[in-house]
Amino acid sequence: MPVPKPPEKMMFQLNLRRRGISDQTVLRALEEIPREAFVEPADRDQAYRDSALGISCGQTISQPFVVAYMTEQLQLQKDHSVLEIGTGSGYQAAILSRLCRLVLTIERYRTLADGARVRLEQLGCDNVEVLLGDGLDASSIPGSQFDRIIVTAAMEQIPEALLQRLEPHGILIAPVGPHQGTQTLMRVTRTDAGFERRELVDVRFVPALPGIAREL
Ligand code: SAH
Repeated sequence: MPVPKPPEKMMFQLNLRRRGISDQTVLRALEEIPREAFVEPADRDQAYRDSALGISCGQTISQPFVVAYMTEQLQLQKDHSVLEIGTGSGYQAAILSRLCRLVLTIERYRTLADGARVRLEQLGCDNVEVLLGDGLDASSIPGSQFDRIIVTAAMEQIPEALLQRLEPHGILIAPVGPHQGTQTLMRVTRTDAGFERRELVDVRFVPALPGIAREL
């Protein structure tokens, strides 16, 4: 007999659908990845609420709806390579890993990078590589170009060198705007003519800061 789903997990799925997430592969990934493994132990009973939660180093794990929305907007295909800037807990990377070939995720705090690596390994997300580094410094990011780039920290502007790391017809999603307050989620598509920008929705992310954090 299948184990019945706890009611909070059913509500979690229902809420995502209600708010407009319709891509079945995205919904399935959010259903399968246990968010409780990525939040602080004291917050486990809140893991399936649609809200951001605090994690180590003063950072946050994003709200599930925003994770689902950004993932849907990436229009992932199984053979894609994806770059994520802002590993945090590793939750977004785990969701991505179900939907593409390879995820390279970069985090500026060693504590967060190490924690995410362990969680992702325990969940068998073996197509994710977690790197300690500065995602604002595109020249320090290994590899050549990526089919998709997702930034999960607020950037005042998208560095041109980061856009150049997109494959032709690639898509980048990033929250762009002031570090304090609200940002606009931007979708940038690399076309034959250049870069096509589209504003999606208002969001709130912790800031993208330069350099590897000196604190652990
Ligand atoms: N995607 C994460 C949430 C991200 S919170 C999750 O699913 O849990 C944003 C993260 O971006 C923070 O952990 C922060 O330390 C990191 N960050 C900020 N600036 C960065 C930079 N320049 N390079 C890499 N990571 C950065």
